[in-house]
Amino acid sequence: MNTSRPPASLPTSLLREQGLLAASVFLASLLGIATRPADYSAAVWFSNALLLGLLLRNPESARQPTTWLYAYAAFCAADAVTGSPWSVTLGLNMANMIGVFFGWRYLVGHATVTLGFKHQRAVLHLCVASVVATLGGAVPGALVSQWAFGTPVWQAFLMWLSSELFDMLLILPLVLAAPRGWIWQWKPASLLRPLRRGSVAPLLALAVSEALTYAVNGPGTLGFSVPALVWCAMSYGVFPITVLSLLVSISKVIAMASGPISFIPDQLSTVVSFRIGVALLSLAPLAVAVAHRLRSQALYRLQRAVNHDYLTGALSRRALMERGNRQLQRLHQQGAAAVVVLLDLDHFKHINDRFGHAQGDAVLQQFAALVQRNLRPEDLFGRIGGEEFVLVLPRATTEQATQVAERLRGQLAEYRFVVDGSGDLHVTLSAGLRSAAPVGPEDTLERLLAHADAALYQAKSAGRNRVQRYAPAMA
Ligand code: GH3
Ligand code: MG
Ligand code: MG
Repeated sequence: MNTSRPPASLPTSLLREQGLLAASVFLASLLGIATRPADYSAAVWFSNALLLGLLLRNPESARQPTTWLYAYAAFCAADAVTGSPWSVTLGLNMANMIGVFFGWRYLVGHATVTLGFKHQRAVLHLCVASVVATLGGAVPGALVSQWAFGTPVWQAFLMWLSSELFDMLLILPLVLAAPRGWIWQWKPASLLRPLRRGSVAPLLALAVSEALTYAVNGPGTLGFSVPALVWCAMSYGVFPITVLSLLVSISKVIAMASGPISFIPDQLSTVVSFRIGVALLSLAPLAVAVAHRLRSQALYRLQRAVNHDYLTGALSRRALMERGNRQLQRLHQQGAAAVVVLLDLDHFKHINDRFGHAQGDAVLQQFAALVQRNLRPEDLFGRIGGEEFVLVLPRATTEQATQVAERLRGQLAEYRFVVDGSGDLHVTLSAGLRSAAPVGPEDTLERLLAHADAALYQAKSAGRNRVQRYAPAMA
């Protein structure tokens, strides 16, 4: 049997990816051509940045020479549809492909960091890649333009440079940050999700600052939206900020062309510096969004490490006591009941002695996973000692809690822990159960646990592998 053959689905999915990639390039190029004034670099030429981003997102496709061939064909097809001469079409699109190739060569080495902006350095890589891709295309592009249209090579170079850098800095982050599957499965509703999490105030501030750009004249209005964009970056996250930056930058270009910025492009250098300046403005909010997300993720990990036991994932003793006491207070105010269950594995020291500490750890992990599968979302589960665990079951009756504890006891007794080279291992548990119905003002978790411990002591004395309810006589 030939085991080296790739899975049957691979060629189909590759072909699909290549087809979608070529179609995206074709449509984006049509858009670019439609917005291109007769003798001028495209106003919005998104195809190169889009292609570069898609190649990075689909590394399997990017490794196939045919993908590059299809992309080139898609560029040329868009030109052919709109009636450009073949020699110009082939030359200019080759320049597009060279630029994309340069950017791809640079970024493919940093893809793990850059894709999804997983590190602060990603913004820097994006910046360098945009420059590399732009220069890679601008040099051959300018030469072709001079040959085809007689445009002075320096002028053609600057036009290409400003247009391409603008598109790279705005479109590439958007494609790289888009959530998985978002591009192919058009999900505009996912854009609104951050709005539900954050408030609409940052977005309103952005709208107001954009309106001010049109109300107040002058080049200084260029920076008006930066504070609102930074606010949006902190509120909505990386992908939404790439979308907002793109919209704001396009609005600035329109504002320049239509007058409100009072920045009539009388000479080439003005247009070039304006476009590059607008695009560079988007880097600050992007960097803020990335830093903000990385900080939130680090905080989340830190909180998880503090609140959860490293070995079993159960709540740490401190987190359990804090949350448990808060929960009990709430239940007391509502006049509701709660049950506290103390679980202790039987003869656990023997397991360690016989099979080793590592096996003991594995037993603790699997036991914790077994318990988690049996709990409701509102139940608390914590580890308060080596092999001692606690359940706080809000609104449970004594009968329900006993059923839960008995179910756990039964499942554990049946459970076969596979031990390396030593066959199966069986473990049992004993449980002490203290019900508070309703929770009284004196029922702190410490008090209920002391009672549950007394019940557990009885369960151990009575031979282990059993559930014991607390009775006042045990105190
Ligand atoms: P009993 O049935 O009376 O509960 O007996 P026991 O042996 O389970 O009770 P005891 O509390 O005396 O022993 C608990 C043992 O758990 C002692 C300690 O070596 C072990 N232990 C504590 N923490 C860990 C841990 O994180 N990993 C492992 N593998 N063992 C632990
Ligand atoms: Mg024990
Ligand atoms: Mg113990």
